[in-house]
Amino acid sequence: MIDRSAYYDDAQWERFLTVAEGKETPFILVDLGIIRRNYERLAQLFPFAKQYYAVKANPAPEIITLLKNLGSNFDIASRWELDKVLSLGVTPDRISYGNTIKKARDIEYFYEMGVRLFATDSKTDLHNIASKAPGSRVYVRILVEGSQSADWPLSRKFGCHPDMAYNLLVEAKQLGLEPCGISFHVGSQQRDIGQWDEAIAKTNYLFRALEEEEGIKLSMINMGGGFPAHYTVPTHELTTYAREITRYLHEDFGENLPEIILEPGRSMVGDAGIIVSEVVLVSRKNNTALQRWVYTDVGKFNGLIETLDEAIKYPVVTALPAGLKEGDVILAGPTCDSMDIIYEKSGYQLPLSLAPGDKLYWLSTGAYTSSYAAVEFNGFPPIKTYFIEE
Ligand SMILES: *Cc1c(COP(=O)(O)O)cnc(C)c1O
Repeated sequence: MIDRSAYYDDAQWERFLTVAEGKETPFILVDLGIIRRNYERLAQLFPFAKQYYAVKANPAPEIITLLKNLGSNFDIASRWELDKVLSLGVTPDRISYGNTIKKARDIEYFYEMGVRLFATDSKTDLHNIASKAPGSRVYVRILVEGSQSADWPLSRKFGCHPDMAYNLLVEAKQLGLEPCGISFHVGSQQRDIGQWDEAIAKTNYLFRALEEEEGIKLSMINMGGGFPAHYTVPTHELTTYAREITRYLHEDFGENLPEIILEPGRSMVGDAGIIVSEVVLVSRKNNTALQRWVYTDVGKFNGLIETLDEAIKYPVVTALPAGLKEGDVILAGPTCDSMDIIYEKSGYQLPLSLAPGDKLYWLSTGAYTSSYAAVEFNGFPPIKTYFIEE
């Protein structure tokens, strides 16, 4: 079985278990103290950068309020996320409308609410920003590769070729907007730090070309997310990411860096939460089958959608004593959809004595779980979250 102590020390585990006691499964348990430490650590590792928390990773009001009080800014994707953060007291100068896919009337709404910072990657969207949010700051998202080494790629759908980014920024100025910078996202849970090197090099090329040829001086780089949470596939430590990325930035931009924005989602909240579930059934499909099917009350539709194609491999542990004999399992969720199989090929093993009613703990599940859960599939309610206050 996976060694829980490689993810949470005994004191932290006790904190989780104490609060988990007696609650009906499945549920998410988020420790706000871990999020505070993640925020402070990133601020320490990138003292020159501003953090814009990617709200989609976990939009719980408790988390937004904590990050607001710590001084974070927010990357927002829709008018509903906007309403939520504004209602929690975040001022519009701390908000970036980072979604490049938006309706003209939503741009207008953001502008009316006071937001003045917009991402774009297409001509139509740029024109909409110029007419509905006149004079605002815009940055253009460029396409970056990254999908081979990111466990949850965000490429292809977003961003445009650097040549097109160049044209958009020139046009932004003609349209009366303030072309302020370049953004990219190297892919979520990006394990190859070199991806930032390439993206920063492309960004540097655009900074230089626009200044030399058009007299446009960009002032900001939005490096998006991509920093890892701790799953079963190893990654470098965050300190290594910070050291290398800082080096790339200085190599390309010298001593005086432009304004740097980071948009952590997964790395901010992933490790802060666990899901507690219960085994519903254990069965074999024939008398001599080597693999057992373990059905649990959490699955793809109530929190674990990022296990699509077994992309994100969460550490799974039980409360059974260490050292028991184990065997291969297929882990599956509780719904009547055969897509609701969590892990079949990734080699998960659990004790042979595992039985209905036993608890399963899904580690590092604070990100992209509650916000992705279905509302009523098969009647199962959206998964609940409980918070451990600081
Ligand atoms: C989802 C998203 C992020 C967060 O990415 P993580 O890899 O979870 O840190 C940041 N920026 C943008 C624009 C996003 O869409």
